[in-house]
Formats: sequence, structure tokens, C-alpha cells
Amino acid sequence: MAAAVEPRWRQATFIQDVRSRVSASQLTRFQKMYTEPFFVINVDPVVPALVRMRLTVSGSQQATYVVTLQSTGLFKCSCKDAIMTCRRNGCVCKHVCFVLYRVLRHEGLDFFDNLQLTPDEVGSIASRASQIQIQEVDRSNPPHVAPRPDQLHFDFCHSKRPHQIEAGDDCPICFDALLGSDVLRFCPECGNGVHRTCIVKWMEHRSTCVYCRSKLWSNYRGD
Ligand SMILES: [Zn+2]
Ligand SMILES: [Zn+2]
Ligand SMILES: [Zn+2]
Repeated sequence: MAAAVEPRWRQATFIQDVRSRVSASQLTRFQKMYTEPFFVINVDPVVPALVRMRLTVSGSQQATYVVTLQSTGLFKCSCKDAIMTCRRNGCVCKHVCFVLYRVLRHEGLDFFDNLQLTPDEVGSIASRASQIQIQEVDRSNPPHVAPRPDQLHFDFCHSKRPHQIEAGDDCPICFDALLGSDVLRFCPECGNGVHRTCIVKWMEHRSTCVYCRSKLWSNYRGD
């Protein structure tokens, strides 16, 4: 098995590169990408001209924000900071940092010069978007037939056949590694894993499995 390559944003040298490159107001927002919890609640790759991608992002509070990548390479976020402050300070909000570097795995730092991606970068990011359709069914593991509601007695800690979690497997909600300190929960229907804290957050907004859309999760109480 090949060793999984650490994504750029998780490499130690990366934040040093960023620090030497960006303004103080940008750095503050960028660093929150590491210190605050973020969750992707929805990904909507949009084909038509103006908007290339739309992600719904949530943080530690109930609020959700919509981050859009325009086909011009500009990002927009619906948060107060983006609307009220970032434009004036010439920076992007923490949600855009999270989406660009953690979710979309962008590696270059030229973005911070003009706060705009090049057409090539937009193209490669848009092609990657298909990999982050978090509601996509895992076709290699078709869900087995769902039991009737009165048969629901799933132990979410020990679901029937959890998938083996390997180095390099990321949580589809926070895009951080699945291997680590956080407790995992496995979908009883498709066997895929997520962080417990992430599925709790997810269930504030949705009631189906992140992977297979199983409705069994509507019975989940966050334990
Ligand atoms: Zn924002
Ligand atoms: Zn997670
Ligand atoms: Zn599932």
C-alpha cells in the first residue's frame, strides 16, 4: 500500500509560506482554518457560466454560510465578515480559506495576490469538484436493503460492517483525516465512516447519510 501524501494544507511548511506571504488580516482568517471546526453541509457543482461551485459551510454555531466560486476565479461568502470587512481589508474570510485549501486542496499561494484564481486553476478545481460531491452514493459498495423502521436497532458504535479506515481517508464533512483522535461513527447501511462530532453537526441540517442518503440516520441521537 502506497503511503498517503499529506495534503498541502496539513504540511508544516505550508503555514510558514503563508505567513511570509499574506497580510496580517488575511493571516488571522487563514489560521482559523486550523483552529476552528468547519463542516461542509452541501456541495453543489454548478455548470452554467457565472458560478462554478457553491458550498454550504457551517461552523461551531448553527449558522450556515454559502461560499461560491465564480467562473472569474473570485470567491464570495455570505458571512458578515466577508460582506462587511474583508473587501475593505483586501482579504478573504475564514470560510473561503477553508473551502479553497482544505476542501478543494488548492496548493498555490498566488491566490492571495489578487484574491482571484487563474482560469487554469478554476478549471482544475472545477474538475475536482466531482470528487467532493458528498452525497454521491459509493457505487463500489451498494447499500443493502434497508430494514423497516420497526427493525431499527442499530448500534452506531458497532455497525455491521464498517469499512476499514486507512491513512489518507478523509471525513466528507470536515475534510480532515479520519484516522486520529476523534471518535468515528459508521453508517449502518453503507458502512462508511465519519467523525462523531461531524455527523452530529450534519444532523442539525440533514437527516440522511452523508454517503448513501440512508434515512436510518434520522433515528440517530448523537451518542
Ligand atoms: Zn465567510
Ligand atoms: Zn469530520
Ligand atoms: Zn450510508
